[in-house]
Amino acid sequence: MNRTMTVPVDTRPTTRPARADLGSGLLETEQVACNLCGESRSRVLFRETYRLGTEAARLHVVRCRRCGLVYVSPRLTFASTGHVYRHDAADTISHGYCWQGERGGSRFRRLLQRLIRMRGDGRLLDVGCGGGQFLAEARRTGNWDLLGIEPHAPAARSARQLADCTVHTGTLQQTPLEPGSFDVVAMLGVLEHLHDPTSTLRRVRELLKPGGVLAVYVPSFDYLRIKDTGWLSRLRTGRHSNLHPQEHLFHFTPRTLATMLTAAGFEPPDLDVGHPFMHGGPAKRTIKKTAYYAARFLRATTGLHLGGLEAVARTTQPPKAPELHSGDPTDAIGGRL
Ligand SMILES: [Zn+2]
Repeated sequence: MNRTMTVPVDTRPTTRPARADLGSGLLETEQVACNLCGESRSRVLFRETYRLGTEAARLHVVRCRRCGLVYVSPRLTFASTGHVYRHDAADTISHGYCWQGERGGSRFRRLLQRLIRMRGDGRLLDVGCGGGQFLAEARRTGNWDLLGIEPHAPAARSARQLADCTVHTGTLQQTPLEPGSFDVVAMLGVLEHLHDPTSTLRRVRELLKPGGVLAVYVPSFDYLRIKDTGWLSRLRTGRHSNLHPQEHLFHFTPRTLATMLTAAGFEPPDLDVGHPFMHGGPAKRTIKKTAYYAARFLRATTGLHLGGLEAVARTTQPPKAPELHSGDPTDAIGGRL
C-alpha cells in the first residue's frame, strides 16, 4: 500500500453561477413531525430566512413538546437541500470540513484511540467522509480495512487520494453493503445534516457486526445557543440567530443524542468532548483549540457539556428467542405449530 501522503487535489469550481441566474423553484419547504418520537406539536425557538438566487425560505428551529429534540420545521426538502449544497457550497459549514486538507487529521487521534480500545481491527466505514481526513488518520494507525461514502463527488475524489482507500460517491442508502460486515462505523458531522437520521442509524445498526461500534460527532446545541443566537450572534453576524437551518436540520444535546442512538439499537453511548474542526487562520485555530480544552476542563470539573458531542456506542445484543418449557405442548411436535 502506498503510504506516501498526497495533498488532495482541490477540484472546487473556481466560478459559480450568479445567485440571480439560478432560476425559480429552488427552495421548497416541508413541515415535519419529530424524527425521534413522531410528535407533531412543537415550540418555535428561532425563525430564520434563507435566501438562494431570488428566492427566500422561512425556516423554523423548533423543540418537540414530547421528547425535547430540536429540529427544523418547516425545513427545505431533500431536493432543495441538494440545491443549497450545489449552488451555495462555499457558504455551508460542510465546505470547511471537506476542504481542510491534511491538517484536519490530528483532531481525530483521541477518538481513534477510543475506537482502538473498543474494536481495534476489522472493517471501518466512514459515512459522509468529506475530504477523507478521518480515514487518512485511521489509515496511519494500520488497524482497519477502510471504506468511505461521500455524496459530494469532488470531496469523494479527494478522500480517495488522501486516504488511499475505496470511497463510494453517494449516500449510505444508495450504496449496496453487506449487513453485519463492519466492525466500526463513523458518522462525524453527519447526523445533523440528514432528513431522517433515525432511519439512517437503523441502517448503520444492520451493517455492524454483533458488538460493533458506532462513532458519532455532532455539534452541541447547548454551545450553539450561546455562540450562534442572542446578543453574541448579533455582535458577530448582525442576526438574532445564525443556526444554518438550510443544512443543519437537527440539533442535539447529550440527552437527545443518547435517546436517538438507543432507539436505533445501540447501547447508551459513552460521551466525550469532540475536537472542533480546525479550519480558518492561525488566530481562529488558536481560539478553537483553547475553547476545546476549556470545554474538557468544564466537563471534567462540573459535568457541563458545552463542547461538540462525540459519542461511541456498541450495538445492543439482539433479543434472545424465548426458551420453551419442557411441558410446552409444542415440544411434542418439534415446536412447529
Ligand atoms: Zn419528539
